Amino acid sequence: MGDKLKLAVNWAAACGGCDVSLLDSEATLLDLTEAADVVYWPVAMDYKRADLEAWGPGEIDVGIFNGAIRTSEHEADARVMRERCKVLVAYGSCAAIGGIPGLGNLCSPTSILDVVYRDTASTDNPDDTRPQTRTPRDGGALELPAFQPTVRALHHVVDVDITVPGCPPPLPRVLDAVEVILGMAAGAPAPPIGTVLASDKALCDECPRIDTRTGTGRRVPHQHRPHEMVADPERCFLEQGLVCLGLATRGGCGATCIEANMPCRGCFGPTPTLLDPGAEALSAVASLSGLDHEDEFPTHKRLAPMRSIVDVAGTFYRFTLPSATLFRSLFDAPEK
Ligand code: SF4
Ligand code: SF4
Ligand code: SF4
Repeated sequence: MGDKLKLAVNWAAACGGCDVSLLDSEATLLDLTEAADVVYWPVAMDYKRADLEAWGPGEIDVGIFNGAIRTSEHEADARVMRERCKVLVAYGSCAAIGGIPGLGNLCSPTSILDVVYRDTASTDNPDDTRPQTRTPRDGGALELPAFQPTVRALHHVVDVDITVPGCPPPLPRVLDAVEVILGMAAGAPAPPIGTVLASDKALCDECPRIDTRTGTGRRVPHQHRPHEMVADPERCFLEQGLVCLGLATRGGCGATCIEANMPCRGCFGPTPTLLDPGAEALSAVASLSGLDHEDEFPTHKRLAPMRSIVDVAGTFYRFTLPSATLFRSLFDAPEK
């Protein structure tokens, strides 16, 4: 394999979109294969964990990890990748901040298994059989990974060097990552630990609708879901009664959803100064919501604008729940 860089790609609780986005890096993919040998990529080729473990500590130059940590196997993979790779990249929202799988944290593991193995209309499981981590069989045992209490982001388990946000990361950010790898192949040092390949400013900063964000000062009496109305493509969504998380989300995606006349759902994660983007966005939307002459209404009617938000947790924490300060303070609080 000569002097080429060694590259490992691993997925955990993921949908496969991140792996596809790597393949979508157009002609640059050819430059990447010139500069680096893929030594591990179980989604793409028939690799087993033992192939990764066969490498010594730090012998792989770059490890790209996509997906959140949901099972004991994901955690073990993360630890092996961290040990074997000089530079570990959290690739995509699931690895970076927990992402969509993190919404599983709204339910206990038991209640999730109840739905999957007992409650759905198509389930036929008269003995209520559940997956076991160890099942003795024919003198040996079958083993399955353990379902962990909560979904976590990669950085909750191991140190991360570089983060590439997005669900999946869009092409310009994928090309940034490839450029970093090509630079390392040419002798450049790895970027500083903690580098995020995106903007440090909020998405609003690059949004073409920013000038209309605080225009009227009018209170918003009802929060709509995107399919309930055709949004004015020139005006900030917040002004139209559509929750948009651009004000609490890191820029760098090119305002892709906004350009398609859809509000931002926060896949790039929080800006560096925000501890809890969902809470920040909820607070901002609450300050815009209200009724004209609301003093004339009883309290329960004054709350109606915020009550009109369907699925508050799924709206404000769609990608960030595992990393949210409010959530982690519940699960990571020291035992008394
Ligand atoms: S970040 Fe998005 S595209 Fe990537 S694995 Fe997670 S859900 Fe899939
Ligand atoms: S809240 Fe959304 S629509 Fe409004 S300026 Fe920010 S990103 Fe653009
Ligand atoms: S607009 Fe928001 S949800 Fe859409 S790609 Fe950008 S950061 Fe992600």
